[in-house]
This record gives sequence, structure tokens and C-alpha cells, in this order.
Amino acid sequence: MAVIPAQESARRWGTSPWVIDFVPPPVPVPSEIDFAIIGGGFSGLAAAAWLRLLSPQQSVAVLEAAHIGQGASGRTGGMALAESAAGDLPGLGDVLGGLKNILGILDIHCDLDLPGAWEIGRKGGLDHSPISWKDSGTLRAAAEVPGGTVDPGKLVSGLARAALGLGALILESRRVRRIHWGERVELEIGLEAGSGEAAVGKTLSAKKVLLATNGTSLGLSGLHAGSHPKLTLATQTTPIREDQMRTIGLSQNKPFYTVDFPYLWGRTRPDCSIVWGAGLVDAPDSGDLEEVDIRSAIPSEMFARFEKRVRGLHPALANIEFTHHWGGPILFRDDWQPVFDRHPESPNGIVLGAFAGHGVALSNYLGAWAAEVLLGRRSLPEKWGRLSS
Ligand SMILES: Cc1cc2nc3c(=O)[nH]c(=O)nc-3n(C[C@H](O)[C@H](O)[C@H](O)COP(=O)(O)OP(=O)(O)OC[C@H]3O[C@@H](n4cnc5c(N)ncnc54)[C@H](O)[C@@H]3O)c2cc1C
Repeated sequence: MAVIPAQESARRWGTSPWVIDFVPPPVPVPSEIDFAIIGGGFSGLAAAAWLRLLSPQQSVAVLEAAHIGQGASGRTGGMALAESAAGDLPGLGDVLGGLKNILGILDIHCDLDLPGAWEIGRKGGLDHSPISWKDSGTLRAAAEVPGGTVDPGKLVSGLARAALGLGALILESRRVRRIHWGERVELEIGLEAGSGEAAVGKTLSAKKVLLATNGTSLGLSGLHAGSHPKLTLATQTTPIREDQMRTIGLSQNKPFYTVDFPYLWGRTRPDCSIVWGAGLVDAPDSGDLEEVDIRSAIPSEMFARFEKRVRGLHPALANIEFTHHWGGPILFRDDWQPVFDRHPESPNGIVLGAFAGHGVALSNYLGAWAAEVLLGRRSLPEKWGRLSS
């Protein structure tokens, strides 16, 4: 399998509209650490901040192959939803309440707004549905569920600032290439181009490891079995007028997603631009999403069809222009449940991921929970989240 340099994979996946305005200062890889976290997305950064908050005397390093937010977290739609893609799970608790609590304690300001979210569909719409769009039938609001939106760029930046402020190391351009499991865990780390250090590998010895690598590095995390990595596509339009926003039924800033097919999701932004998404691209042969290029023929055609589809939803959208096109990794399990389990090869490793399109609130919530498991203060869920399921 070819290793795609992180900068190249960022170009291949396009640019999202979210701004990550925090760059961790470059630091060398230490030789030993208490807790190593692989992956600098919501899951990994939340876990790092929470670990240092609860146990400031223990050392924590986040190893990120590219830069923080390079995966789904800097490319997401930013809908904050309750529960999981599989609905509520035994012992899961209040995900949105947990997210609010984490943001409050870590003093993170990411425009969290929870006015509710629309489930939309072609059948059984609410009498008072503000949404009525043409899309393989008539799409109407079918139910209102708890939820809302965040600014994902501010959330990634805020988590990284909090983690660093609490004393975690954040090591960008450090890809974990191999893990040797034992009483201590030895991580072989490759230095990506642009890291400012000679391109030689280093080894980091850790007491415990959290794998928060989502839809890539599936061989390392053990998530390759029963999981389906995809690149999911998203777009952002130019701002529309407030009266147009009212006409299309989105003036309450409630995000929306379909409960039937063809799939469609979206959310508004404070400047009245709209983020819309749909469409999944498979990885070529090896299952490595980093090889997918959204500029290639199939994704380009998908974007062109999708733009036409959005313009056709409502006359107020007929002339809308698109400013951003991008993709991001997403990992589905057959049972739609997130994975939150011991690594198959060692009790010193924990694997967290596979949130499908339902990971914004959940990855933060379970990232903090994972920190408590690593510290031996809390148990893993017993009845869901198993790697073997
Ligand atoms: C386009 C899109 C829209 C979405 N919209 C929504 C939404 O509106 N609402 C919602 O709830 N969910 C949504 N999701 C899902 C949600 O964004 C994700 O579930 C969540 O961001 C996952 O966070 P994470 O930290 O687990 O993974 P990621 O953010 O993907 O982080 C994993 C990190 O690991 C790094 N990494 C991988 N391998 C290695 C390695 N070997 N060494 C070091 N680092 C490595 C990657 O570079 C990456 O930065 C969306 C996802 C996408 C792609």
C-alpha cells in the first residue's frame, strides 16, 4: 500500500470552509510517555485534554499524521446530534449534555447552538413542516430531534489549545507506522515531509495507547474487520438572503438529515451560507481512503450532479453558487454502533471510532470517557462498542 504524504492527502480531499486557527508549537518526540494518543481529531484531542485535566502528573502525547483536524473533525458538517448512529445504547448517557459539560469545563467556545434538528423525509411530513423541497418526491420535516450545530474549526482549535494548556504534547506530522504491543507499548513513528526534522523514524514507549484514527490506519486499530471506510462529500454555498432562508424553511438554523434515500444533510452558517452533503466514495483496492482524490472523474461527476440536485430543491436555490467542495473519512460498522473497546492485541490499547455520520458530539463525549478508562477510573461499555461485534 502506498503511503500518501499528509499534505498530498489534504489536497486530494479538498478544502473545507472551517478555520483551524491554532498551530501547536513544534516539539521533538519524547522517548517515553504515560499515555500516547494516535489521531488529532475530536476523539484524540478531547481524550488528551481530559487526561491532563484529571491527572496532571501523568504525561500525554497526541501523535497526528498530518495536522490537527486533517481527518473528519476538520471536514465535518458540524451537526451536533444526540445518541449514536445506532440510536441510544445501554449506558450511553446524555451525549449532548456531556458535550456541553466538556466545553464548559475546558472553556471552549465553538458556537455550540442546540435549537433542535430536523429529520426530513419523503413520507409522513409534519403538518407544520417549514421545509418543502423537490428531491425524488417532496422532502418535508418528519420529526424534530435534539441537536444543533458547532463550528468544527473552533472546536478542533479549542480542544487543541485546551490540551496544550493543560500540558499535553501535540506532535503534528508524526504518523504512527507500527505498534509493538507488550507490557509497555512501542510506537514506531515516521516523520512526514514538512515536519522540520530529518526524515528518520523514532520510537516512543508508552504505558497505554488510545487509537483514535477513525477511517484510516485500520490495520493499526484493528478496525478493518466488519468496517466500511468511505470518503463522504460535502459542499458549501454562497450566502443567501434572509428572506430566501425563510422561504426554504431554514431560518431557525436547525440542521437537517434525511431518514430515507437519496440521502441529504445540511446546516446553515451565521453568514447565511449553507453546507450540504451527500455521496460516498469507496477507496480504491487497498481500502486506503488517503488515495481517494476528489478531483478525479467519479467524485467530480458526483459533485456536479449534487450541485444540480441542490439547485433543484427549491426555486430560491435555483441560482445558488458553490464555494467549497471537499471530502472526509467516515467509518461505518455493519451494526452502526461506534467502537469503544480494548485493542484485540493488548489490554494496554483502547480503540475508539466508527461513529458513521454521527460523531461530532459523540467523539468528544467518548474521548473524555476514554481518558477515564485509561486512568482506570471508569469501565468500557459492556453491551456495545466491541471490536468483535
Ligand atoms: C464530510 C463529513 C461530514 C460529517 N458531518 C457530521 C455531522 O454533521 N454530524 C456528526 O455528528 N458527524 C459528522 N461526521 C462524522 C464526524 O465528523 C466524525 O465522526 C468525527 O469527526 C470523528 O472524529 P475522530 O477524532 O474520531 O476522527 P478524525 O477527525 O478523522 O481524526 C482521526 C485522525 O487520526 C489521524 N491518523 C490516522 N492514522 C494515523 C496514524 N497512523 N498516525 C497518526 N495519526 C493518524 C488522521 O490524520 C486524523 O486527523 C461527518 C464526517 C464527514 C467526513
